[in-house]
Amino acid sequence: MLKMVQVAKTYYTDSIQTQALCPFDLNIAQGEFVAVTGPSGSGKTTFLNIAGLLENHSAGQYFLDGQDITLLNDKDRSKIRNEKIGFIFQSFNLIPELNLYDNIDMPLRYRQFNSKERHNRIMGALEQVGLAGRKGHYPQQLSGGQQQRVAIARALAGTPSFLLADEPTGNLDSQMATGIMALLTDIQRQGTSIIMVTHDPQQAQQAERIIEVRDGILSESQRNVKAAAIA
Ligand code: ADP
Ligand code: ADP
Repeated sequence: MLKMVQVAKTYYTDSIQTQALCPFDLNIAQGEFVAVTGPSGSGKTTFLNIAGLLENHSAGQYFLDGQDITLLNDKDRSKIRNEKIGFIFQSFNLIPELNLYDNIDMPLRYRQFNSKERHNRIMGALEQVGLAGRKGHYPQQLSGGQQQRVAIARALAGTPSFLLADEPTGNLDSQMATGIMALLTDIQRQGTSIIMVTHDPQQAQQAERIIEVRDGILSESQRNVKAAAIA
């Protein structure tokens, strides 16, 4: 599904050159749950931005579902991003003026779906996260954990190839965090790959694979046999 070959990233600011990511190879198959950990400044965000097509890599090749996205222009790049990648952020990023239904509808409107298709997708996603009954509510009427569920529903409604989650439980208390992790695991078991950046080593242990980033170097510890066995 995702294949990176000798991908690297160098930032040039003024005369200063920062090698944010050293060349690495990575394959992620459909349905895998991959955690990305590492200290602050190690390159996690850079990796996520490249995987999410928010930023260009400066070397190597990146294939998504077999397509080489390395040479695409910005327009094609955003099209693929909208169709194939669902984003989940620490801060939920819901629009406060829109109810849950319309929040989920927003990214669908940028695509070619007719209104019936959009409606089915919205209701299906809300049901998947257990919030169908609250479709007319506004984000501020929900708890943090529920808001993150809506953000997950919004990402799922687009039927992405994979979810990119950046510290998805960073703003939640531990009980809500546990609920969100259970939901993500559930989603992964239904076949959607998840790439999740987390500071929390314990949380990383819940993924099948753990990629550690240190000083721009990606390394993968052994496959997490325990999580894989549960899955
Ligand atoms: P993390 O997410 O693990 O905290 P980042 O990916 O944000 O790490 O940063 C990795 C390295 O790349 C750091 O040294 C950071 O200063 C540098 N970096 C990140 N973004 C930029 C940028 N836009 N311009 C220059 N350097 C950057
Ligand atoms: P289903 O069509 O599967 O039975 P529901 O009856 O639970 O789904 O909910 C569908 C309702 O949601 C429809 O009546 C539809 O008009 C309504 N709806 C449409 N747009 C919005 C919106 N922006 N906010 C809340 N509900 C909406």
